[in-house]
Amino acid sequence: MKHDFLPSYDQMLRTIAKMCETYPQLHLHSIGKSVLKRDIYALSVGNVEKEAAIFVGGTHGQEWLTASLLLLFLDDLLSSVQSGGPLEEIDFSLALQKRGLVIVPALNPDGVEIALNGPESARWRKNCVKKIMNKSDLTWQANARGVDLNHNFDAGFPILQKLEREAGFCSPSPRRYGGKRALSEPESRAIVKYVRKHNISRLYAFHSQGEEIFYEYDSIPVPLGEEIAQTLSKLSGYELVENAGLYSHGGLKDWFIKEFRRPGFTIEIGKGENPLPLSDLDPIYRKIRRMMAAAVIL
Ligand SMILES: [Zn+2]
Repeated sequence: MKHDFLPSYDQMLRTIAKMCETYPQLHLHSIGKSVLKRDIYALSVGNVEKEAAIFVGGTHGQEWLTASLLLLFLDDLLSSVQSGGPLEEIDFSLALQKRGLVIVPALNPDGVEIALNGPESARWRKNCVKKIMNKSDLTWQANARGVDLNHNFDAGFPILQKLEREAGFCSPSPRRYGGKRALSEPESRAIVKYVRKHNISRLYAFHSQGEEIFYEYDSIPVPLGEEIAQTLSKLSGYELVENAGLYSHGGLKDWFIKEFRRPGFTIEIGKGENPLPLSDLDPIYRKIRRMMAAAVIL
């Protein structure tokens, strides 16, 4: 079954609807709403009640290819379960009984829309978005209030805020402004609430670009964190980046590691300049499909 994996919000909803029709074992639910009241969807399969790995994409507007990638992978995985065959030598009908998989293709649906379709897509906030855009040359990564969601989580927030201020990011911006306080944004609150309510044993935040894997936060010891990171790196050829320095605060994986001391990763897919073109989707996927499949069970 072939789907169109363009991640504009309407197309994403059509793709998700088709997948739900094709795969009855797939569960769809909204984990909350964005600033512009778009639903933030989670798709889950397998024994999520027991424990789950979560893949999160579309946190940064220009990195919408991550949303396409996660849906493409989920489609492949479900198709393998349906046919009873393995995917990358893993029998997922069995594996998903032990640990479920949750996919949030676009945590920042407003930012993805703004990146793809411009400020007009920002509904009642289009004039504010235009104003924020006009004061900077930076391309749009933030949510519809000009807050960079991956700077908005509760992990070293005051340190990050100080660094942002020193770099001149003191107010809403297309990127790198983390908001007035940690979790000020509905999108970051939605994912935090979801993760806290479920037994999430692994968290993978997909970004672009760089072909890199980040796996640490603030020297916090995480059982299995480094071992899994090394396996992910081996399977993909992506490079492991050790402690990313002072700027590594406020991210989703940072918060996850800090709060749960469980393995959390930021995976920077592809190489080039954001936004990576849709034509990069297939080569990127071919390169990291083994890693994505293993990530569910590692
Ligand atoms: Zn990013």
